[in-house]
Amino acid sequence: MSENCTKLAPYAAHPDDSHGRQHTEERPTYRTEYQRDRDRIVHSGAFRRLEYKTQVFVNHEGDMFRTRLTHSIEVAQIGRSVARVLLLNEDLIEAIALAHDLGHTPFGHAGQDALNSCMQEYGGFEHNLQSLRVVDQLEARYADFSGLNLTFETREGILKHCSKKDARELGALGERFFTSTQPSLEAQLANLADEIAYNNHDVDDGLRADLITLDQLSEVELFRYHVDTVNKSYPGLNPRRAIHETIRRMINEQVSDLIKNSRDNISHCQPESIEAVRQQKNRLICFSPQMQQKNRDMKQFLHHHLYRHYRVQRMSGKATRLVSDLFNTFMDDPSTLPPEQLQHLKTLQQSRAQMGRARAVADYIAGMTDRYAILEHERLFNPTALT
Ligand code: MG
Repeated sequence: MSENCTKLAPYAAHPDDSHGRQHTEERPTYRTEYQRDRDRIVHSGAFRRLEYKTQVFVNHEGDMFRTRLTHSIEVAQIGRSVARVLLLNEDLIEAIALAHDLGHTPFGHAGQDALNSCMQEYGGFEHNLQSLRVVDQLEARYADFSGLNLTFETREGILKHCSKKDARELGALGERFFTSTQPSLEAQLANLADEIAYNNHDVDDGLRADLITLDQLSEVELFRYHVDTVNKSYPGLNPRRAIHETIRRMINEQVSDLIKNSRDNISHCQPESIEAVRQQKNRLICFSPQMQQKNRDMKQFLHHHLYRHYRVQRMSGKATRLVSDLFNTFMDDPSTLPPEQLQHLKTLQQSRAQMGRARAVADYIAGMTDRYAILEHERLFNPTALT
């Protein structure tokens, strides 16, 4: 066993027991397999592009809002903190967290919905599957294989959910969607670290953008309890600091609940290995029922007041039109694609003509950052713009 694995619990993912990579490689000399995965993700082009992709707010609205890059780093931070306490594999959770959003389109959910509806006749578009596609096929950096050739466990964590139809095409990776088995505890944790990160930073960004107010937020128990405590303990505190103090306390409450509840689940079931974790009927990494309810309330609030705010809806409308314009233009006339993308299209078309064309166009659009998509649209639709 590698020396830097000694602090792992038996139920954690041990790199020496990994189900391995799609293309066999020699083991790394100084790192574990999951450290190598994490490092490959950090060096990928798709990872760098996360800096200019947003979830709710578009980059040009300000430099203070989360991007998909800072979101992914927050997910990794939360995941690692919990993993260390539960003696799970920090390198694996970090790899999963940093890769989990690689397949996201520009313009967040509006972009994904638009691309999915463009792709209806061609198998649809799903960001989760696209993240897997990025690490399995699209990154072109290594001499011996396409993609990043990551371990099974990192890929398993990236594939959060999947339809049975898609799972059928994924071989061993898709099996758990038929057998109702569980992914590793690190994968389960990445999922919830994602939820904690976005619920909290969307509150912060929503307040900063003046889309939601403190008054409105006081409807939500999770927020109200902490904002009241902060206001009582620090009367007259600068409002921005008070918001930050409140949010850090909310994160702390959620993380503490997750640790405590998951630890109880683990000690109740006593799984002796990652395989025993996979055979469990239920997930062991989860919030208490009380915290699940608080989170549901917060999510509902955000859906209602933030994600459906008219200013967010306007941006979504623009994104939807822009993504469909790009898709239709490239589908109608692939000769407008840049050479590298045209080559990708020709390769995919060899087996399935229209399907391959659509998938190549979707790969190109999904890889775009917000600002690149805006620029590309300008180059295609504005006759005075440089092409
Ligand atoms: Mg995410």
